[in-house]
Amino acid sequence: MASIDVLKARFYSYDKMYSQDLREQSFVEWPFREECECTPAKMAKAGFVHCPSENEPDVACCFFCLLELEGWEPDDSPWSEHIKRSPNCGFLSMRKDFTELTVAEFHHLEKERLKIYIRKVCHKKMAYLRDEIDQKLKDLNSMLNSIH
Ligand SMILES: [Zn+2]
Repeated sequence: MASIDVLKARFYSYDKMYSQDLREQSFVEWPFREECECTPAKMAKAGFVHCPSENEPDVACCFFCLLELEGWEPDDSPWSEHIKRSPNCGFLSMRKDFTELTVAEFHHLEKERLKIYIRKVCHKKMAYLRDEIDQKLKDLNSMLNSIH
């Protein structure tokens, strides 16, 4: 799972990833190239950007909904995986190539992308806060128990 910093970096750099060519160019070191469903071209067509890390070389992320998937198999269809795990992604319902969007349509999509990003960050922050509270409660409980 991406950290808040990683989410932020992705959100700010993926505004240029409306371009399918740029997405495809990110798959330089992608392991699935020939005779399979998840080639760089198909991954890019389905909205994915390759964002490998040292421990996770096959992580791909949707530039729009920031869905992150790893553990790809040669028979996985990028479009089906995307729609299965993020059915409301605005990219999947885009009817035009991004070069044909009007300025108003583009702004609308960017607003959606921003909302998704803010939602993800808020969920992460809430999860961190819950963990902190749990830890604090444990500490206080053991302090109480040690008083007896
Ligand atoms: Zn998506």
